[in-house]
Amino acid sequence: MDEELDEEPASVQETALEPERPPAAPDPLGLTQPVTALKGVGQKIAERLNRIGPQTIWELLYLFPRRYDDYTLMKPISKLNYGEQVTVIGTIWQTRTRKTRINQSIVECIVNDGTGTVQATWFNQPWLADQLPAGLQIVLSGKVDLFLGRLVFNSPEWEPLELEPLRTRRIVPIYPLTEGLTASKMRELMQRAVREWAERVPDPLPIETRRRLHLYSLAYALQQMHFPESHEALRQARQRLAFDELFLLQLGVQRQRREWLQYTALPLVAPPERYETFLAALPFSLTAAQQRVVDEIRADMTQSRPMNRLLQGDVGSGKTIVAAAAMVSAVDAGAQSALMAPTEILAEQHYRGLRQLLEPLGIHVSLLTGSTPAAERAVILAGLADGSIHIAIGTHALIQPPVTFQRLALAVIDEQHRFGVDQRAALRQKGPQVGEDAISPHLLVMSATPIPRTLALSLYGDLDLSVLDEMPPGRQEIKTRWLRASERERAYNFIRRQTAEGRQAYIIYPLVEESDSIDARAAVEEFERLSREVFPDRRLGLVHGRLRANEKDEAMRAFAAGGSDVLVATSVIEVGVDVPNSTIIVIEGADRFGLAQLHQFRGRVGRGEHQSYCILIAEDVSAEAEQRLAALEATNDGFVLAERDLELRGPGEFFGSRQSGLPELRLASLLHDVEVLDMAQREAAALFAADPQLEWPEHALLRDRLEAFWQQAGDVS
Ligand code: ADP
Ligand code: MG
Repeated sequence: MDEELDEEPASVQETALEPERPPAAPDPLGLTQPVTALKGVGQKIAERLNRIGPQTIWELLYLFPRRYDDYTLMKPISKLNYGEQVTVIGTIWQTRTRKTRINQSIVECIVNDGTGTVQATWFNQPWLADQLPAGLQIVLSGKVDLFLGRLVFNSPEWEPLELEPLRTRRIVPIYPLTEGLTASKMRELMQRAVREWAERVPDPLPIETRRRLHLYSLAYALQQMHFPESHEALRQARQRLAFDELFLLQLGVQRQRREWLQYTALPLVAPPERYETFLAALPFSLTAAQQRVVDEIRADMTQSRPMNRLLQGDVGSGKTIVAAAAMVSAVDAGAQSALMAPTEILAEQHYRGLRQLLEPLGIHVSLLTGSTPAAERAVILAGLADGSIHIAIGTHALIQPPVTFQRLALAVIDEQHRFGVDQRAALRQKGPQVGEDAISPHLLVMSATPIPRTLALSLYGDLDLSVLDEMPPGRQEIKTRWLRASERERAYNFIRRQTAEGRQAYIIYPLVEESDSIDARAAVEEFERLSREVFPDRRLGLVHGRLRANEKDEAMRAFAAGGSDVLVATSVIEVGVDVPNSTIIVIEGADRFGLAQLHQFRGRVGRGEHQSYCILIAEDVSAEAEQRLAALEATNDGFVLAERDLELRGPGEFFGSRQSGLPELRLASLLHDVEVLDMAQREAAALFAADPQLEWPEHALLRDRLEAFWQQAGDVS
């Protein structure tokens, strides 16, 4: 023993080969039992587990540790260093209990291992004194601390030496906890669940695939994920489980692409008459990036296979005009186009801008939203059905059942992250019927979330990608500052100066939900206060979600036309709003918004030639919010911010599974698991090539898992 302890610290040998064992019989039914089927889990504990998530044993097995503490490092006591995380084995020499001045109980043990002694201390657990008698051999794991100049362990994990090491001497899983569920109880439960059930989980990966890719079996991966024997085993377990997620993701995405490729579309070929007039009439020329993307789109639209294109461009990069160019091309070919935006304000802005550009070319543009009056609506529906309206702009009102088009050949979705996969599909269904065949419109979806290319391809593998990687000329970096509430007056002064020079300003109040009346009231009250006390000599406008559509439109119109200097708003103007003369945006309660959202808000300024400013006001922010605000101050680059956002929030939240129609990934990181992602992509393609319908018996489980995985994203087709 002493000899062993005298050795230099060595981590546990990294052998991570999966032991050969005959597989246990899968028991999918047993696994779907509620957690109470586990010994030691009663109604109470089940409720507590439910609060974290798992309802069934199967789900419990997929409740992975948040992190691990590494206690594999064993050391003799004489070699301990301050601050390190270690495990020691020794004999208890003495145990005593005392009280502090504030009547806290403290249990202290002196532990000796033949090389030295160390003190271990536990607070407020007086019963430990009985469990730790002198003479007991114990294992202690924890961080080496200092107390009065001596090395100590404060509240270390411990267990008697002879027990199977559950808490100490290993890589210890740290689970998410909830009130009434202690770390050790949780580990005990998990160990039981893993021991009794991990082997019963049916492995959807055919064994041949698994061998070829050198992946652990699912059972072994689950075991090692919870109770890893080494770092290498943990890495491989994670790899196998991440592969499962990315593989299912890829299968879903690729299946969708295969389905879409079966549709036909109207090939749009015609002399580009109006298109050329349109270009010539623009007040600016297209940037090289815009030109390139327009060419890509126009080429796609000449095909009889529907275009499926994702256009990415940071806020302000000029996506609208690209959409307009595509829509005009469709009209040249005698077809109709539709442009769907996530808010009425944005739809109205597109309508105003595009009508002005396109009506002189003889193109008939209409606006259809939820607040279009019934009479007008009837006229528009008739015009869309008989083809006299060439371009329909609107909100999701466009995809409602009564809307039919005579010959819809191009559908554009703006700010696609606000729409789900279903809405994309619904718009697609608005294409014409030719004989027996449903014809799909060409589809262009636009997004300001500039996610990395590899990521975009894996998530939207069903779409081709175009990127606007160039800003229109003359743009300047928006200067961003974070101020405390006490410094708000500085922001107001700044607005006074900017508006005196003829520029315009936004002041944003935090609104969590567009329909949240409390926030609307906050905006109204602030609007009154600002009008009275702060900017009596400026013209103020107000827009929030509680206004009627025509009131909103009126306020936006006035602001866009320079009829007001300062627009007080809630988050209804978060996306898309384009008033190039505005140069300053003040965001109150900035800590309440996410990074992507703040970047969107900031994108309301810096859209013209003038230097622009963004002022974030926040007080008492959390550490996490502080990181967001600092990131925003540091860069204007939406690409960099998106990566940062992904890191801070993880892809699940980043893409908001409900909204994006993407399933939630628990383990896999779309940013970091690049190799696994590649592997998943290749395997998915190979699988579909061999067995397009997943009909082979060895793919039956995979097919089930695929349905289940995508079901949670609200998309099954
Ligand atoms: P976003 O990509 O955020 O949707 P917009 O399409 O709203 O951006 O364009 C932002 C602003 O840039 C608009 O005022 C638009 O008129 C202007 N713009 C677009 N393209 C160009 C260009 N090539 N040259 C100059 N200004 C442009
Ligand atoms: Mg836009």
